[in-house]
Amino acid sequence: MPSSARRLYHAHDGILSRVYSLYIHVPFCRQRCSYCDFNTYAGQEHLRAAYVEAVCRELRFLAAGASERLPVHTVYFGGGTPSLLSPQQVAQVLEAVAQHFALTAGAEVTLEANPATVDEAALRALRRAGVNRLSLGMQSAHPDDLRLLERDHDFVAVIRTVVAARRAGFDNLNLDLIFGLPQQPLARWQQTVELALGLAPEHFSLYALTLEHGTPLAHWVAHGLVPAPDDDLAAEMYLWADRRLREVGFAQYEISNWAQPGRACRHNLQYWRNRPYLGVGAGAHGYAAGVRTMNVLTPAAYIRRLQAEDARPRPFPRTPATVEARRLSEADEMAETMMMGLRLTAEGVCRAAFARRFGRSLEAVYGEKIRRLMALGLLTWSADGECLRLTSRARLVGNWVFREFV
Ligand code: SF4
Repeated sequence: MPSSARRLYHAHDGILSRVYSLYIHVPFCRQRCSYCDFNTYAGQEHLRAAYVEAVCRELRFLAAGASERLPVHTVYFGGGTPSLLSPQQVAQVLEAVAQHFALTAGAEVTLEANPATVDEAALRALRRAGVNRLSLGMQSAHPDDLRLLERDHDFVAVIRTVVAARRAGFDNLNLDLIFGLPQQPLARWQQTVELALGLAPEHFSLYALTLEHGTPLAHWVAHGLVPAPDDDLAAEMYLWADRRLREVGFAQYEISNWAQPGRACRHNLQYWRNRPYLGVGAGAHGYAAGVRTMNVLTPAAYIRRLQAEDARPRPFPRTPATVEARRLSEADEMAETMMMGLRLTAEGVCRAAFARRFGRSLEAVYGEKIRRLMALGLLTWSADGECLRLTSRARLVGNWVFREFV
């Protein structure tokens, strides 16, 4: 597309998808779980108050760098363990969000919580502060799994937290579960799913365990202390859970996510639709105005940057915490639209939206790749021929398919 047309497209897209999502990273955990390589730190709770101040400052700088008051329709506190912030601290951040951005009516506000880090009083206070969706890291119901993962809760704590959340007025709950663990038989996974279903959440995220380099679990496996996960068994677990969740009224909408009708996570849909989001906090990533950003990693460095005397607004979407900002080419944006969109198992990537956004048809850009992947039985068109999707079996080799578009 010529650059003048591209500018027009950006103006046009601005009108179409000018609603933002806001991700707020909370990089504190009580302890590190054995499988986790997220940007999070144990033993730094003393930084929480200063960190919350810094987050509020970054929100102010971010808004000041924009040319207008930006509409925000989802806010997501992720971590780390956001429930280690006090409800007052969460409220302080949400007040800053409301002060600097135009929160849309009915905005989705999610907070990730670990079981046993919140009681009913805290949950009530979070609800009053504006949090209306809770995502609980349950992972497993079985003590052997939880011990291997070095989670600091048991299943009883999950039950207590779900009961407390319902009493506090939360009607939108997600449970995160992990499958494909070393020494986890299929029957034990099935029991975990059944027990989780008994808690009647509105949403499930089911993740296959991946051994992340540098984690204790990867080290144990590498040294033969723990057997390696069995990929075939993990695939069987995935397909069984998919069937079981569908049986009881959940619909899969993304490779790892299932929801009751109308309960898909709007925040995560923003990522998968490759729409703009602002990342705030240590190590947070953002994508807005065609620029991908990444913030400085550690909480201490983050606080220093935001507290510095010369801290000031930067060209949107950068802030004083930004350490990387990369303008994406049109080819990058198209590839990312494919990679992210194909994760959406029900929606996929639709012709009209792609053409509107890029001024070119899906076939004109990816015709050859699409034909090849269709011949391999990995992609298919929706019944009306409008949207391109992964086939059911391609869900198990999604990453291989996505790589084809890079
Ligand atoms: S609680 Fe979550 S973010 Fe924290 S170490 Fe465990 S898995 Fe990682």
